[in-house]
Amino acid sequence: MQTIVLLTFLQAFFFPVISDPLILSEGETLPQVILKLDDLKYEDGLVDPGWQQVIAYLRSESVVGTIGIIGSSLEEGTPAYFQWIKDRHADGFEIWNHGYCHCQWEVDSIRQREFQGPSAAEQYASLAKTQQLAQEKLGITLRTFGAPYNSTDAQTAMALEDLPDIHIWLYKESLAPTHKYLLPRIPEVNIEYPVHVPDFEQFRAGFEKYKIAKVLVIQGHPRSWVDDPTRFATFQRIVAFLKARQVHFTTPYAYYLAQQD
Ligand SMILES: [Zn+2]
Repeated sequence: MQTIVLLTFLQAFFFPVISDPLILSEGETLPQVILKLDDLKYEDGLVDPGWQQVIAYLRSESVVGTIGIIGSSLEEGTPAYFQWIKDRHADGFEIWNHGYCHCQWEVDSIRQREFQGPSAAEQYASLAKTQQLAQEKLGITLRTFGAPYNSTDAQTAMALEDLPDIHIWLYKESLAPTHKYLLPRIPEVNIEYPVHVPDFEQFRAGFEKYKIAKVLVIQGHPRSWVDDPTRFATFQRIVAFLKARQVHFTTPYAYYLAQQD
């Protein structure tokens, strides 16, 4: 009995099954890759140097990525900050909703996060504020949500139901039902191990193991790569590896639209 269960499990993960939307089907040979880059905010008068070097590098390599923006930065930023973001949007980078405050606090010694603990109405307010600010300051409708710390609960799912402009949910970890299109996390395939520290060998091992996935959403934090040059160099090595493997870089919304055909 145990052997059968194990085989079924292995088949699900390691053999292409045409009906499984997460596994490559016949004719497809490589996963698509989404660079999930987190935590754009307004600092030092413009855009953090870590972001600037990462985006300049990706543009020079003709690689598209994504930018998770913290909504409150759109209340503080200058026209130059807004223009920088609009230019990236025009380049093809997807700007996505990474919450409003990216904050956490405690209530009766229980940790609360923006999307873990607060009521559905409060979570809706955070999401909607960032949506509105992006529309007002950038003229961009955000199509994708990914939570700070990737921490969400059932109230997040309820709040998102009232935001039809958002179609995609990155790294949903709660079991609450949702109508959003999910782009899941594969914990073994990441840019950073641990968070903030790019690691090429661990990335490569994860990639080789999960390259039968239809899409790999790999997370990183450009602001953390600027102080230690080896971190940025490792990110460059990961991108060069993916380019050499001829993966197709995409964005959540582009990927989602392609699945609707
Ligand atoms: Zn974040």
